Amino acid sequence: MIKDSTVITMDGDGRIFRNGGLLVEDGTIEEVGRSDDVKKRAGRVEMVLGGPHLLVIPGLINTHVHPAQALLRGLVPDDLRLVEWLRDWVWPLQGNFEGDDGVVAAELAALEMLRSGTTTFLATSMHSRYDIEGSIRVFHSSGLRAAIGRQTMDMPDYAMEKGILYPGMIEEREESLASFKRLYSTWNGKDDMVWIWLSPRTPGAVSDDLYREVAELRREYDTGVTMHLAEIGEDLEYFRSRRTTPARFLEELGLTGAKGVFVHCVQFEDEDIAIFARTHTSVSHNPSSNMKLASGIAPISMMLAAGVNVTLGTDGGPSNDSYDMVREMRTAALLQKVGTGDPSSLKVMDVMRMATINGARALGIDDIVGSLERGKRADLVVLNLRRPHLVPRIFGPSNLVYSATGQDVEYVFVDGVPMVEGGLVRTLDEERVLEEAEEHAERLYSRVKGEPWLKYLDQPTFTRLHDLPEHHGSIAPPL
Ligand SMILES: [Zn+2]
Repeated sequence: MIKDSTVITMDGDGRIFRNGGLLVEDGTIEEVGRSDDVKKRAGRVEMVLGGPHLLVIPGLINTHVHPAQALLRGLVPDDLRLVEWLRDWVWPLQGNFEGDDGVVAAELAALEMLRSGTTTFLATSMHSRYDIEGSIRVFHSSGLRAAIGRQTMDMPDYAMEKGILYPGMIEEREESLASFKRLYSTWNGKDDMVWIWLSPRTPGAVSDDLYREVAELRREYDTGVTMHLAEIGEDLEYFRSRRTTPARFLEELGLTGAKGVFVHCVQFEDEDIAIFARTHTSVSHNPSSNMKLASGIAPISMMLAAGVNVTLGTDGGPSNDSYDMVREMRTAALLQKVGTGDPSSLKVMDVMRMATINGARALGIDDIVGSLERGKRADLVVLNLRRPHLVPRIFGPSNLVYSATGQDVEYVFVDGVPMVEGGLVRTLDEERVLEEAEEHAERLYSRVKGEPWLKYLDQPTFTRLHDLPEHHGSIAPPL
């Protein structure tokens, strides 16, 4: 039982209880409402939390995560445009994952997500090199609900740029589709904790024929599809060269619709927004990544006004560089106000919906999670507001979106089971995970240093790697 706390339900009526409570039994929410009513319904209670300094919200839902990129944090230069950033750094590093690098990265991402209040996420572009099954075991045992987007591709291109994908990132079309089917039969729907999705690469890397096959598989398996879309100007050039628009392209290939989550959608125009609204296709907004890579400002307010289901994502280790959804809510709200010149755009409850119930709807699991309502699974996050940066707390949502960070999370429950207690993740050995992540990142970096892609270092933008030995001490001698 949680009592005498502020409870933000995110239900259809947007109810917030300032002196509220919540009762959980067998992993299900039995009652949520005024604290007095909850106490009356409670019988013998095993665990009680409560106090006016506690803020209770639904578990946060991150709809765009690159788990492998957790290991790349700090290894990739900060000040590059997307294509160079991918071609010269992110792809070569990811394309050199071996052994249990992917599993260690998954543990690090899981640790950070749980610790900062995320209970469900959508993993994108999962490549066999990251040990997908090993990663799924990590997410499952750590207590996160995970939709796993299995990568598919058949060309080494990005938009109009030919042959730029690092060889270690290339996968065979048939093997990736077979892997999807294997993973699906073993894991999909397991304990309402794991779902296997399709994650085709960005236009340029996938033939129309393969996109159509993905669309067919999605229908046949009744699963979801996630893909990066219209992130930067180069993406738009690709669609223009084909005399289409991002959303029309998807619709013609049969990829729009429920459980379709398209990431970034920065370069969207009215027609794209209308197609997404009409087809109930979801957007994953990743504001930090869009800001850091200077990709632009997605028209989120217009999408919401048109009725598009917009969700929130953090993207990866070197583009954010954090998996903290509480911080991401603040960034989303601020960026949209700057983009529109209108301080009333993206209000705190809008951005909270994006991070909770809209995410659940996008993943097709809003019947079990996404809000605190009777009968739903007890995925909830408790923040401690008795901290200098969170007082006073007259209106909880403002404190949460504008003042809090994921580090203010005290408890996280999934299915009513405490996965985080007193700010400590119970399901992962934090010290071991941090230690191994450092070691694996150092080994990965040393391996990649000898690669031919380093010829790009002659270009003036790549000064950072020369600085690395000093910054990183034990990492690799100077080139
Ligand atoms: Zn991404």
